[in-house]
Amino acid sequence: MPILKNQVIVLQEGYSYKDSTDATTMHANCSCTLIRCRDGTNIIVDTLTAWDGENLTTLLKTQQLQLHDIHIVVCTHGHSDHVGCNYLFQQARLHIVGSSISNRDLYYEHSGPLDIHGEVLVEQTPGHTLSCVSVIVHNSHMGGTVGICGDLFERREDIEDEQIWILAGSENEKQQREQRYRMSQLCNFIIPGHGPIFEVDEALRSKLKLKQNV
Ligand SMILES: [Zn+2]
Repeated sequence: MPILKNQVIVLQEGYSYKDSTDATTMHANCSCTLIRCRDGTNIIVDTLTAWDGENLTTLLKTQQLQLHDIHIVVCTHGHSDHVGCNYLFQQARLHIVGSSISNRDLYYEHSGPLDIHGEVLVEQTPGHTLSCVSVIVHNSHMGGTVGICGDLFERREDIEDEQIWILAGSENEKQQREQRYRMSQLCNFIIPGHGPIFEVDEALRSKLKLKQNV
Protein backbone atom coordinates (compact mmCIF):
# COMPACT_ATOMS: atom_id res chain seq x y z
CA MET A 1 0.00 0.00 0.00
CA PRO A 2 1.48 3.41 -0.89
CA ILE A 3 2.27 5.75 2.01
CA LEU A 4 0.17 8.92 1.75
CA LYS A 5 2.34 11.12 3.96
CA ASN A 6 6.06 11.31 4.62
CA GLN A 7 6.74 9.50 7.90
CA VAL A 8 9.14 11.21 10.30
CA ILE A 9 10.27 8.83 13.04
CA VAL A 10 12.65 9.80 15.83
CA LEU A 11 14.67 6.61 16.29
CA GLN A 12 16.51 7.97 19.32
CA GLU A 13 15.90 11.25 21.12
CA GLY A 14 18.99 13.41 21.57
CA TYR A 15 20.25 14.54 24.98
CA SER A 16 22.98 16.61 26.58
CA TYR A 17 23.70 17.12 30.26
CA LYS A 18 26.62 17.77 32.59
CA ASP A 19 28.39 14.85 34.21
CA SER A 20 27.27 14.50 37.85
CA THR A 21 30.81 14.40 39.25
CA ASP A 22 32.77 16.51 36.75
CA ALA A 23 31.11 19.77 35.71
CA THR A 24 33.60 20.29 32.89
CA THR A 25 32.39 17.13 31.10
CA MET A 26 29.17 16.69 29.14
CA HIS A 27 27.21 13.61 28.17
CA ALA A 28 25.67 14.11 24.72
CA ASN A 29 24.24 12.22 21.81
CA CYS A 30 22.18 13.54 18.92
CA SER A 31 18.59 13.03 17.85
CA CYS A 32 18.60 10.33 15.19
CA THR A 33 15.68 10.51 12.78
CA LEU A 34 14.34 8.31 10.01
CA ILE A 35 12.29 9.73 7.13
CA ARG A 36 10.24 7.24 5.15
CA CYS A 37 9.29 9.26 2.08
CA ARG A 38 6.11 8.73 0.11
CA ASP A 39 8.13 7.71 -2.95
CA GLY A 40 9.88 4.91 -1.02
CA THR A 41 13.13 6.78 -0.33
CA ASN A 42 14.47 6.14 3.18
CA ILE A 43 16.62 8.88 4.69
CA ILE A 44 18.49 8.79 7.99
CA VAL A 45 19.36 12.12 9.61
CA ASP A 46 22.33 12.20 12.06
CA THR A 47 23.92 8.85 12.82
CA LEU A 48 24.90 9.09 16.52
CA THR A 49 28.42 8.32 17.80
CA ALA A 50 30.82 5.75 16.39
CA TRP A 51 29.96 3.51 19.37
CA ASP A 52 26.28 3.25 18.34
CA GLY A 53 26.60 0.79 15.44
CA GLU A 54 24.74 -2.09 17.07
CA ASN A 55 22.26 0.27 18.66
CA LEU A 56 21.41 1.93 15.35
CA THR A 57 21.12 -1.40 13.53
CA THR A 58 18.64 -2.50 16.22
CA LEU A 59 16.69 0.77 16.04
CA LEU A 60 16.25 0.33 12.28
CA LYS A 61 15.09 -3.26 12.78
CA THR A 62 12.23 -1.96 14.94
CA GLN A 63 11.09 -0.21 11.72
CA GLN A 64 11.55 -3.42 9.70
CA LEU A 65 14.54 -1.90 7.94
CA GLN A 66 18.02 -3.25 7.24
CA LEU A 67 21.09 -1.04 6.81
CA HIS A 68 20.95 -1.43 3.02
CA ASP A 69 17.40 -0.03 2.97
CA ILE A 70 18.73 3.47 3.70
CA HIS A 71 19.12 5.44 0.45
CA ILE A 72 20.42 8.78 1.75
CA VAL A 73 22.39 9.76 4.86
CA VAL A 74 22.18 13.37 6.01
CA CYS A 75 24.27 14.76 8.86
CA THR A 76 23.23 18.23 9.96
CA HIS A 77 26.92 18.98 10.61
CA GLY A 78 30.23 17.24 11.04
CA HIS A 79 30.50 16.89 14.84
CA SER A 80 31.31 13.38 16.05
CA ASP A 81 27.93 12.70 17.69
CA HIS A 82 26.15 13.35 14.36
CA VAL A 83 28.30 11.38 11.89
CA GLY A 84 29.57 8.42 13.93
CA CYS A 85 27.75 5.61 12.11
CA ASN A 86 27.85 6.90 8.53
CA TYR A 87 30.12 3.95 7.73
CA LEU A 88 27.20 1.56 8.26
CA PHE A 89 25.41 2.93 5.19
CA GLN A 90 27.70 1.99 2.34
CA GLN A 91 24.79 1.14 0.04
CA ALA A 92 23.35 4.65 0.36
CA ARG A 93 23.54 6.68 -2.85
CA LEU A 94 24.42 9.92 -1.08
CA HIS A 95 26.13 10.96 2.12
CA ILE A 96 25.37 14.59 2.89
CA VAL A 97 27.42 16.06 5.75
CA GLY A 98 26.63 19.73 6.21
CA SER A 99 27.27 21.31 2.82
CA SER A 100 29.39 18.40 1.56
CA ILE A 101 27.69 15.79 -0.69
CA SER A 102 29.50 12.60 -1.57
CA ASN A 103 29.43 8.95 -2.56
CA ARG A 104 32.65 6.99 -2.02
CA ASP A 105 35.39 9.30 -3.34
CA LEU A 106 33.08 11.40 -5.50
CA TYR A 107 32.20 14.87 -4.23
CA TYR A 108 29.38 16.76 -5.89
CA GLU A 109 29.12 20.47 -6.39
CA HIS A 110 25.89 22.13 -5.41
CA SER A 111 24.55 25.41 -4.14
CA GLY A 112 21.28 26.42 -2.53
CA PRO A 113 18.68 24.05 -1.07
CA LEU A 114 18.91 20.42 -2.17
CA ASP A 115 15.57 19.01 -3.26
CA ILE A 116 15.58 15.29 -2.48
CA HIS A 117 12.16 14.52 -3.90
CA GLY A 118 9.90 17.52 -4.00
CA GLU A 119 8.68 17.37 -0.40
CA VAL A 120 11.99 16.82 1.39
CA LEU A 121 14.64 19.53 1.22
CA VAL A 122 18.08 20.03 2.72
CA GLU A 123 18.63 23.70 3.50
CA GLN A 124 21.68 25.61 4.70
CA THR A 125 21.11 26.80 8.28
CA PRO A 126 24.48 28.20 9.40
CA GLY A 127 25.19 29.20 12.99
CA HIS A 128 26.19 26.30 15.26
CA THR A 129 28.71 25.59 12.50
CA LEU A 130 28.92 27.64 9.34
CA SER A 131 28.14 24.59 7.18
CA CYS A 132 25.13 23.31 9.19
CA VAL A 133 22.07 22.10 7.30
CA SER A 134 18.50 21.24 8.30
CA VAL A 135 16.13 18.80 6.66
CA ILE A 136 12.64 20.13 5.92
CA VAL A 137 9.91 17.53 5.49
CA HIS A 138 6.64 18.83 4.04
CA ASN A 139 3.42 16.81 4.01
CA SER A 140 4.44 14.82 7.09
CA HIS A 141 2.28 12.26 8.86
CA MET A 142 2.28 14.53 11.92
CA GLY A 143 0.48 17.23 9.93
CA GLY A 144 2.37 20.02 8.23
CA THR A 145 6.09 20.55 8.00
CA VAL A 146 8.78 19.06 10.24
CA GLY A 147 12.26 20.61 10.51
CA ILE A 148 15.08 18.31 11.55
CA CYS A 149 17.40 21.08 12.63
CA GLY A 150 20.42 19.50 14.31
CA ASP A 151 22.08 21.84 16.77
CA LEU A 152 20.48 24.98 15.38
CA PHE A 153 18.21 24.22 18.35
CA GLU A 154 19.78 22.36 21.28
CA ARG A 155 16.37 21.69 22.84
CA ARG A 156 12.99 23.45 23.27
CA GLU A 157 14.11 25.25 26.46
CA ASP A 158 16.82 27.14 24.58
CA ILE A 159 14.16 29.50 23.19
CA GLU A 160 13.69 31.14 26.59
CA ASP A 161 17.24 30.48 27.77
CA GLU A 162 19.63 31.38 24.94
CA GLN A 163 22.65 30.38 27.00
CA ILE A 164 21.76 26.75 26.30
CA TRP A 165 22.45 26.97 22.55
CA ILE A 166 25.22 29.54 22.89
CA LEU A 167 27.16 27.42 25.41
CA ALA A 168 26.65 24.35 23.20
CA GLY A 169 28.85 26.21 20.71
CA SER A 170 27.98 28.72 18.01
CA GLU A 171 30.33 29.78 15.23
CA ASN A 172 28.05 32.70 14.38
CA GLU A 173 25.40 33.72 16.92
CA LYS A 174 23.78 36.35 14.68
CA GLN A 175 23.29 33.92 11.80
CA GLN A 176 22.08 31.23 14.18
CA ARG A 177 19.39 33.58 15.58
CA GLU A 178 18.25 34.44 12.05
CA GLN A 179 18.09 30.79 11.02
CA ARG A 180 16.26 29.77 14.20
CA TYR A 181 13.55 32.32 13.41
CA ARG A 182 13.47 31.35 9.72
CA MET A 183 13.02 27.66 10.55
CA SER A 184 10.26 28.47 13.05
CA GLN A 185 8.39 30.26 10.26
CA LEU A 186 8.75 27.29 7.91
CA CYS A 187 7.94 24.50 10.35
CA ASN A 188 5.07 23.18 12.45
CA PHE A 189 7.36 20.87 14.40
CA ILE A 190 11.08 20.99 15.14
CA ILE A 191 13.36 18.12 16.05
CA PRO A 192 16.30 19.72 17.90
CA GLY A 193 19.79 18.24 18.08
CA HIS A 194 19.66 17.24 21.73
CA GLY A 195 16.08 17.08 22.99
CA PRO A 196 12.53 15.93 22.21
CA ILE A 197 10.52 17.10 19.19
CA PHE A 198 8.40 20.20 19.88
CA GLU A 199 5.52 21.98 18.23
CA VAL A 200 5.97 25.49 16.85
CA ASP A 201 3.21 28.02 17.45
CA GLU A 202 2.87 31.77 16.93
CA ALA A 203 3.97 32.57 20.51
CA LEU A 204 7.20 30.69 19.97
CA ARG A 205 7.80 32.37 16.59
CA SER A 206 7.37 35.82 18.15
CA LYS A 207 9.87 34.98 20.90
CA LEU A 208 12.44 33.99 18.29
CA LYS A 209 11.71 37.11 16.28
CA LEU A 210 12.20 39.37 19.31
CA LYS A 211 15.56 37.74 20.14
CA GLN A 212 16.96 39.01 16.86
CA ASN A 213 16.62 42.61 18.00
CA VAL A 214 18.34 42.05 21.35
ZN1 LIG B 1 25.33 17.93 18.57
